[in-house]
Amino acid sequence: MTTTVMVLGAGFGGLELASTLSERLAGEVDVTLVDQHDAFVFGFSKLEVLFGHQNAEQVRILYSEIRTPGVEFRQERVLAIDPRTRHVVTDAAVYDPDFVVVALGADYDFAATPGFAEGGFEYYTVAGAERLRDELAAFRGGRVMLAVLSIPFKCPPAPYEAILLLHDRLVARGIREGSNLHLVSPQPSPIPVSPQASAALERAMAERGIGYTKRHRIHGIDPDARVAQFKDHDEPYDLFIGIPTHRVPDVLVEAGLARDGWVAVDPVTLQTPYAGVYAIGDCAETGIPKAGTFAESAAHVVADGIVRSIRGAGGLASGGTGLCYLEFGHGDVGRVDVDFHADGGPTAPLLGPSPAYADEKAEFGAVRRARWFGA
Ligand SMILES: Cc1cc2nc3c(=O)[nH]c(=O)nc-3n(C[C@H](O)[C@H](O)[C@H](O)COP(=O)(O)OP(=O)(O)OC[C@H]3O[C@@H](n4cnc5c(N)ncnc54)[C@H](O)[C@@H]3O)c2cc1C
Repeated sequence: MTTTVMVLGAGFGGLELASTLSERLAGEVDVTLVDQHDAFVFGFSKLEVLFGHQNAEQVRILYSEIRTPGVEFRQERVLAIDPRTRHVVTDAAVYDPDFVVVALGADYDFAATPGFAEGGFEYYTVAGAERLRDELAAFRGGRVMLAVLSIPFKCPPAPYEAILLLHDRLVARGIREGSNLHLVSPQPSPIPVSPQASAALERAMAERGIGYTKRHRIHGIDPDARVAQFKDHDEPYDLFIGIPTHRVPDVLVEAGLARDGWVAVDPVTLQTPYAGVYAIGDCAETGIPKAGTFAESAAHVVADGIVRSIRGAGGLASGGTGLCYLEFGHGDVGRVDVDFHADGGPTAPLLGPSPAYADEKAEFGAVRRARWFGA
């Protein structure tokens, strides 16, 4: 009998899981892959939109292109999940699969920071990246503050990449000298798992005269007065860019899967407390940062678990590995090879930065596009 698997969310983790199951359980498994949208966008493509290298249409990869054997994509919104019975309700159908894998990512809570929705900019959504791109085109110089508004957030390097690329953009437009760039973050360092990458990013910011305030949180902004509110003082800005507060999708709270913020999973198997129900990627709490590369390695863990359930044997990937690319500006890209489960503790050496890793990053995206979409 064919095993049925529902993958909820066709993002980085869901797409990788669907492709892996198709490869490893060909003919033994029917995968239904559900997403509310009609297209996938790589997280890093939002930087391309922000800096005008590609437009919103160019970065969309349509799910209708999926040609993965044994995988059926359905554009539906997940409305309810009963994890005890694995009953899933969408806006178009109901399902009772053998396995449910939750890969719904993280939502943004713009209202969590007073004034942000009214007076701030962001580039974590495609629409936000377009809006900020247009604002930057009209910007004539001044005080730019880029703030991480809460942790955890997707892609720890992304704020540092944006401020370094922004520096380049202002230099190219001849308005850097009349501008002040300042990054604020509650974190103790840019990439806490990698002291080497953190030091390189801090050095790059210092060399470019970019201010960096760590271990500080901005509680709100006053768009009329144009000030950012710290715990005990205010600081003026002309352009405020925030990495929005992240939260687990509501449907997972309503399903009882996310009681303390994110979906609780067994750190080894990534199974939730409910049999046959797994969670991967940004929506799950594993102690590992939220990034596509870790969603991908989580997909391999769950694929192993499903293979073992069906075949009664097989190994289990360790998860927690991945490679992150870091844009340093000037066309230079670094690469951090992260292994959270290495013997003796996490390892995350930095390679580069150099233009060679920019080519490798492009290849990274192209390989996944071909693998997930058959394009
Ligand atoms: C600016 C930026 C740069 C980044 N750069 C990198 C990078 O260089 N490398 C890297 O590894 N990561 C990067 N990331 C992070 C990466 O994009 C995410 O961590 C990754 O996409 C998480 O994968 P996921 O499968 O958990 O969730 P997602 O990829 O977010 O997918 C979740 C999917 O679930 C769907 N969904 C949600 N709710 C519902 C519902 N109710 N019904 C149906 N569908 C639903 C969504 O539409 C979405 O398609 C970046 C992110 C940003 C914002």
